Amino acid sequence: MKKVEQSIKDFISKNIRTIPDFPKEGIQFKDITTLLQDKRALELTSFMLAQPFRNRSVDFVAGLESRGFLFGTNLAQDLNAGFIPVRKPGKLPANTLSETYELEYGEDSMEIHDDAIFEGAKVIIHDDLIATGGTASAASKLIQRLGGEVIGYSFIIELSFLKGREMLIPKVPVDSIIIE
Ligand code: AMP
Repeated sequence: MKKVEQSIKDFISKNIRTIPDFPKEGIQFKDITTLLQDKRALELTSFMLAQPFRNRSVDFVAGLESRGFLFGTNLAQDLNAGFIPVRKPGKLPANTLSETYELEYGEDSMEIHDDAIFEGAKVIIHDDLIATGGTASAASKLIQRLGGEVIGYSFIIELSFLKGREMLIPKVPVDSIIIE
C-alpha cells in the first residue's frame, strides 16, 4: 500500500503547477487549477484527502477561502459531514465572529457565521495549502470560540520550511498529501 500511496502522491504532485513570483516576487505559487483540470488527479486528490479521516466521526469540514472551498465540500460529503465556509472579512451575510492574525507585513482576518456549528461539534479544517499557518490558526480559534472541537487538519500541500504546523492546535492530527 505504501508504494501505491507514494505513486498517487507523485501523480498529484506532478499535476500541481508552480508559478514563480506570483502574486509577488519571491513567492513560488502552487497552482491547483491544473490538478482540478485532470479528472484522474481530481479523483485521486479527493480520495487521498478523505483517507486519513474515514474512521473518524466528523460533524463539519471547515473550508478556508477560497481554495479550501474547491475540495472542501466534496471532502465533507465523503466524510458524511456538513460543510462550513471560513471567509475573508465582509463576505458572509449573517452574524459573524472574526479573528485577526499577523501577516509578514500587516494583518488579516477570517470570519465565520456565529451559528455555523453546534456546541461540541467535531470539525476538520481544510485548505489547499499551509504556509505560515496563520490562516488555519485563525480558523481554529473561530471554531473553538463557537464551542467546537478541531479534530484534524487537512491540506493538499504543506510548505514545511515555513513551520506552519507549529501554529496549529498541539496534538491535533495534521494530514498533508504533499510535504515540501
Ligand atoms: P498561511 O496563512 O501563511 O498558512 O497561508 C495559507 C493561505 O495562503 C492558503 O489559503 C493558501 O491558499 C495561500 N498560500 C500561501 N502561500 C501560498 C503559495 N505559495 N501557493 C499557493 N497558495 C498559497
